[in-house]
Amino acid sequence: PDRVVSGARREDDQLEASLRPARLDEFVGQAKARENLKVFIEAARVRGDALDHVLFFGPPGLGKTTLAQIMARELGVGFKSTSGPVIARAGDLAALLTNLEPRDVLFIDEIHRLNPAVEEILYPAMEDYQLDLMIGEGPAARSVKIDLPPFTLVGATTRSGLLTTPLRDRFGIPIRLNFYEVAELELIVRRGAHILNVEMTADGAREIARRARGTPRIAGRLLRRVRDFALVAGAKAVDAKVADAALVRLEVDGRGLDAMDHRYLSAIARDYGGGPVGVETMAAALSEPRDAIEEIIEPYLIQQGLLQRTPRGRMLTQAAFKHLGLAMPERADI
Ligand code: ADP
Repeated sequence: PDRVVSGARREDDQLEASLRPARLDEFVGQAKARENLKVFIEAARVRGDALDHVLFFGPPGLGKTTLAQIMARELGVGFKSTSGPVIARAGDLAALLTNLEPRDVLFIDEIHRLNPAVEEILYPAMEDYQLDLMIGEGPAARSVKIDLPPFTLVGATTRSGLLTTPLRDRFGIPIRLNFYEVAELELIVRRGAHILNVEMTADGAREIARRARGTPRIAGRLLRRVRDFALVAGAKAVDAKVADAALVRLEVDGRGLDAMDHRYLSAIARDYGGGPVGVETMAAALSEPRDAIEEIIEPYLIQQGLLQRTPRGRMLTQAAFKHLGLAMPERADI
């Protein structure tokens, strides 16, 4: 779906590369993750060892790929990148691993989507820097062991719970990324405006930041769209008014919710009395895949205090009814 406020990667995100911070010091927000990484990177550098394997998890667009690249740069090592669904066969992974230089970073995005046969190759590679491969078939088949250079695997996934336990256990450094504060996104928007040569007032940056769903990728995308709008409208600078006009045009509301979020919230409010309602039911009601609902729509609504996940299903909060301009149904159990 073509949602401007989706954290997932889109075609028009090609331009993102120019906005990527290159060093840890330029990376805004995620203070805890940054501090931890700084220590681990420094220690690995001093010891001359490969850094322990790192797992980043959190909603799309929060900076997992960016941090993996920054790690390689700060470690002064090479960076190779791939993604779970792309590695079809064990041999593909073997080729990647045997081509690494010592201490290199291998980044695997969507690592929860690795094929199980490939995942099994990864266990001894992560643990002992060894490849166990089967060569040939039938009675002539034999296994060979190949030594690998020490390397750092950086995995990214939306939720750590999507990984199998043996894979999850092999990451020494699990790091959760959270939605960004508005003030942090404001800095990211200002930095982006500077790079893109956009004249931006403080309240303009704040307006975009407030509506970016706590997600740098969305902030960057909104910035580029607002910039186009300002250009066409002949505005000299992007202030709050220009930003608001552009975002209204893009159907992004004051809280960063779009038509899809409104459909989701209204369906629960109107058709299910505010919930509880199961996620499968919602997926059917909206004709959206369950994954998209759980990974992209719901996390931000939950973070905003509009939605609760309960054992009996999804429930709207009072704030959600208020945001929709609807009266809250009388209910004893909230
Ligand atoms: P993910 O891998 O989690 O989906 P990315 O690392 O690809 O996210 O980041 C998406 C976009 O957001 C990139 O353009 C990146 O430059 C930008 N970005 C992410 N985190 C930050 C940050 N902390 N500061 C500035 N820009 C960021």
